[in-house]
Amino acid sequence: MKIRHHLFFWLFSSALVAIAADKPNPVRIEDLTWDDAHQQALTRSGQKALAVENVEWNHAQSEHFIYHYTQRWMVEAVATEMETYYAIIKKDLKIEGDRWEIPCQVFIFDSEAAWKNLISQTGGDPWVAAFYSRNEIYLPRPPKGAPFADRTIPHELTHLILDHFLRGRVPAWLNEGVAEQQAYKHFVALCKTKGTSLYVPPRMVSAARYVPVSELTAANDYPSDTEKVRSFYTESLRLVQLLQEDRSAENFLEFLQAMADGMKFERALDRAYGSRYFSVDLFEEKFKEAVISKIKTMGESTSSR
Ligand SMILES: [Zn+2]
Repeated sequence: MKIRHHLFFWLFSSALVAIAADKPNPVRIEDLTWDDAHQQALTRSGQKALAVENVEWNHAQSEHFIYHYTQRWMVEAVATEMETYYAIIKKDLKIEGDRWEIPCQVFIFDSEAAWKNLISQTGGDPWVAAFYSRNEIYLPRPPKGAPFADRTIPHELTHLILDHFLRGRVPAWLNEGVAEQQAYKHFVALCKTKGTSLYVPPRMVSAARYVPVSELTAANDYPSDTEKVRSFYTESLRLVQLLQEDRSAENFLEFLQAMADGMKFERALDRAYGSRYFSVDLFEEKFKEAVISKIKTMGESTSSR
C-alpha cells in the first residue's frame, strides 16, 4: 500500500496578536450505526484501524466525512476543522463537483500505542505523522497544547481534495507543495478568525541545498536521499506559492490538471503560464531568487501578494 505521508517541519516563529473576528461555527455531527455496508467501504488499512487492539471506536458523520473516534470532544473539534477547511480549500482552488460519492473516512486516534500498532500493521515508517491514503485520513493523538488546531488537517485535506477533484494524479512534489501551501495559507487565515494573528516567515533553502527545478519536477516520488527531503518540501511549497499566488487560481488549476494528466512540467507551465514565464529557465531565475536564503532577506515576506 502506498502511504502518502508528510513530515512536520515546524518553522513558525510567530508573533501573536489578538484581533477580534468571528470564529467558524461548530459543525453538526450525527451518530452513525456501523454496519457491514459501511465496513465494505473501508480500505484494508481502514479495516485494520478499526480492528486495532484496545480501542472502542464510535462512529459519526458530518456532511462530507465519516469519523471514527473514541472521545466526543475530539470528533467535535475535528469535524468543525474538516468541514471549514474543506469549503475554504475547494473555493481557493476553484474546484467544484466532487467526483467521489463515498465520503472520506477520518480516523481519530487518542492513544499512541494504538497509533503505533496501526503504523506497524500497515507497513508505514515509524516516524509517520498524520497521513492521507485512498479516501482515508488518519490523525494521531494530538499534542495537548492545541489539539487539532495546527496545519495537519488542512494539509491532509488538500491531498484528499486533489484526489477527489482532479482527473489523474499529480506527482508527489506537487501534491506535497499544494498541501503545504494551502495548509499555511488557510491555517493563518483561520487563526485570525479565532483571534490570533500569526506571522509565518517564508521557508528558504541554502544555496548548497538547492535542488534545480528540472530535478525537483522530474521526480514522480519522494526523494530516496533523506538529505534532500527538507529541500523537497520547502521548494515544492515555494514553487506552488509562486504559481498559485502570482496568477489567477484558474491558471493554477489548469496547471494542476495538466500535471495530473501526465504532462511534463515545462509543458504544463507553458500551457497555464506561457505568457508569464516564457521558459523554465526564466521561471527558475525568479524561483531561485525567492527560495534561496540570503541573510538580509531571511524573515522578510516574499509572498505577500
Ligand atoms: Zn503530505
